[in-house]
Amino acid sequence: MRILFLFSLALAIAPLLWGEVTHVVQKNETLGGIARKYGVSTAALQSFNGISNANLLFAGKKLKIPSSTTKNIDYVIKTGDSLGGIASRFGVKTSDIIEVNGIKQPNLIKVGQKITIPLGGTKKTQVTPLLPASVLKTLKSINNSSRWKKIVIHHSATPVDDAMNMHQVHKKRGMKNGLAYHFVISNGSRKATDGEIHIGSRWKGQLDGGHMKQLSLNKTSIGICLIGNFELRRPTSKQLKSLEGLCKHLMKNCRISHSSVTTHKLLHPNHTKCPGKYFSLPSLIKKIKS
Ligand SMILES: [Zn+2]
Repeated sequence: MRILFLFSLALAIAPLLWGEVTHVVQKNETLGGIARKYGVSTAALQSFNGISNANLLFAGKKLKIPSSTTKNIDYVIKTGDSLGGIASRFGVKTSDIIEVNGIKQPNLIKVGQKITIPLGGTKKTQVTPLLPASVLKTLKSINNSSRWKKIVIHHSATPVDDAMNMHQVHKKRGMKNGLAYHFVISNGSRKATDGEIHIGSRWKGQLDGGHMKQLSLNKTSIGICLIGNFELRRPTSKQLKSLEGLCKHLMKNCRISHSSVTTHKLLHPNHTKCPGKYFSLPSLIKKIKS
């Protein structure tokens, strides 16, 4: 009995691997039940077969079952539909529906509008860039001076902080250009989001940093500060991702080699612990080398 069951199960599943399958509706079968049996969403089954009322399913009706090779199916927007709701019913990503249909205003879909549901997802592999487009745009608009030879990583040594506050503090300390670093990467505290890159006015104006004791180092090294006290805890993964993206961009644009990416304490071993024992330079180097 069990063998027979497995055999018929195999027969039922095998065509799914090859292409389109037809299912003949049996007495007492529901669309949801059939959908579950074939591992597809009810919404996909309904749209694929142009069924407007799922309750009017009769025995003997032939249903086409979307298979793993079914890429797209059509769907007509109904009253009360939202893209997010449609996406979850079909088990696809809202962003994929938006992309495939070139929808500019996701909140302004119209009843009767025909859209394509990308059952197989979109072709593009979802590689999220290390730097947000807005940051990249600002970075590209700045003409880099040729004097930058090093990138120096710091931590703020304060668990809660942001670039604006640091700017004020540094001004009060007598730095007329304020914020001593060229860049600040937030940990999500105060007014910035986790991993947010603040491009300081010293970078925008290609001014000397104020992050090192030695004047000569301030003239040639780019200062990046990560908010947090890394003597106590690790940087966030979003901070590290932003740091990786920023270093890669700066290395390429300022022709700085990975061996010239360093930390405050490596340059001033007796003077500071910055950026703390939980910041790993080797793991950053490993990422920016590739
Ligand atoms: Zn430092």
